[in-house]
Amino acid sequence: MSRLDCDQALVHLQDYLKRELTPELVAEVRVHLELCRDCSGHARFEQSFLLMLEATAGRETCPKKLRARILAVLRAEARGS
Ligand SMILES: [Zn+2]
Repeated sequence: MSRLDCDQALVHLQDYLKRELTPELVAEVRVHLELCRDCSGHARFEQSFLLMLEATAGRETCPKKLRARILAVLRAEARGS
């Protein structure tokens, strides 16, 4: 099993979070995220964003404003960690 580098891990990250990768790639991305703090932080950010999109999908609240507010919080958190 080959190790992914950061570029490759990030290329697969979106599909990983949406569970659209093959089991082999899921395992490789997971290994990389466990070993690499930069990428695991990035993955956490992306995952929160996806969860938030799912949570707000279909609702009649103002998603743009909410999205901007949550993004600002997440960015601040990512910088502070
Ligand atoms: Zn990495």
